[in-house]
Amino acid sequence: MLNVDQYLQFWELFQKYKIYSNNTYMNFNSIAKFTVKDRFLKYVTIDTQSDPASDTTPSTEKQKNLGHLLVTELLAMGINDAHLDEFGYVYATVPANTGKNNVPVICFCSHMDTAPDCSGTGVKPIVHKNYQGVDIVLPDDPSEIIRLKDHPDLQNQLGNDVITASGNTLLGADNKAGLAEIMDACYQLVNHPEIKHGKIRILFTPDEEIGRGVDKVDIKKVGAYAAYTMDGESAGNMENETFSADGAKLVIKGVSSHPGFAKGKMESAIKIAGGIIAALPLSLSPEGTEGMEGFVHPVAIEGHVESATIDFIIRDFDDARLAEHANAIRNLADTVKQKYPGSSCELQVKPQYRNMRSVLDEHPQIVEYGMEAMERAGLQPKLCSIRGGTDGSRLSFMGLPCPNIFAGEHAFHSRQEWVSVQDMQKAVETILHLCAIWEEKTL
Ligand SMILES: [Zn+2]
Repeated sequence: MLNVDQYLQFWELFQKYKIYSNNTYMNFNSIAKFTVKDRFLKYVTIDTQSDPASDTTPSTEKQKNLGHLLVTELLAMGINDAHLDEFGYVYATVPANTGKNNVPVICFCSHMDTAPDCSGTGVKPIVHKNYQGVDIVLPDDPSEIIRLKDHPDLQNQLGNDVITASGNTLLGADNKAGLAEIMDACYQLVNHPEIKHGKIRILFTPDEEIGRGVDKVDIKKVGAYAAYTMDGESAGNMENETFSADGAKLVIKGVSSHPGFAKGKMESAIKIAGGIIAALPLSLSPEGTEGMEGFVHPVAIEGHVESATIDFIIRDFDDARLAEHANAIRNLADTVKQKYPGSSCELQVKPQYRNMRSVLDEHPQIVEYGMEAMERAGLQPKLCSIRGGTDGSRLSFMGLPCPNIFAGEHAFHSRQEWVSVQDMQKAVETILHLCAIWEEKTL
């Protein structure tokens, strides 16, 4: 038996040995002069809010201001093909520097817009150095307090430099953290030729927050085997699953009649609709589900006595269960309708998007290499799922498999949004390791 001291000594040796034996790869932390913080602080001051009411691409012209800056910075690094296209997309290529000619082209992707839910005008970022676990009061609106108890991930940031907005706006870490990380990684690749890699493609998109981020993307021009969006939350997390999604419209036909003479005749479509909504179980509702559970969710209702429609969204990680959820709506409608013999209900279902996991499972090394890259960066990699859709899931079904890697962003779309400098640096390291791993594993 070992006593405690011997055990600790043994443990220390074991850790040393483990680190030493794994350390056949480069330690990017020791060579990188990170630029990610300065880039981030610059990008967040540029207002890039997108607008769902606009039908142009990009939805707001101001997004191109950031696009121009990114292109200028890429060109200054010597990345000569960097350009902004008419739709507000930035494309660029870090040329390969390996002797191997068969390393797959890998793409890194982030979005330039910020969410319409919260102002992005006049963002004043504040760096809280050496965070010590205290509640952060935002000076421009002291009622905005970032509390440790509401943001448990802050517990992992003790001693780190946490960046917030000042109280009147969002920060825009979603997804300018990702932009800054990819830009810093490009800078490191260009300045450290000892990091061997294949061709690295860069893609920055507009309008992700309004669901149109890949509408005008030129997949041929990207020409990559795999992509990674840098748009996730906690350091070490990677998301390989999204919801599968259907939209459904329930069309209700009632029986109209003069209200003064309606007894025994009128069947109000409005009341049938109300009965169906009231009967939706909590266990199948967004407010009553979490984790891997799916739901049905009425998002709009419109009605008169004669007819009414309810628009639903249906979500689940499992494609087959989408149909079960649609049937649950049909069954509820049938039950409610029993009291209304002259009326009818019909549910029309339309597919929206699908869980990207089915695509990623066909190319398992894309996720495996991502996990290994995070591990090499000293993180504990964790696979997660997203209770929503991403541009990555759409890209995956357009032929570009695309999981999502952490960018360090927290409390998205709110005035309490925050990110730490150290998490962003870990994301830069992760990108560099990924580039090296793809080269290294190609024979
Ligand atoms: Zn985002």
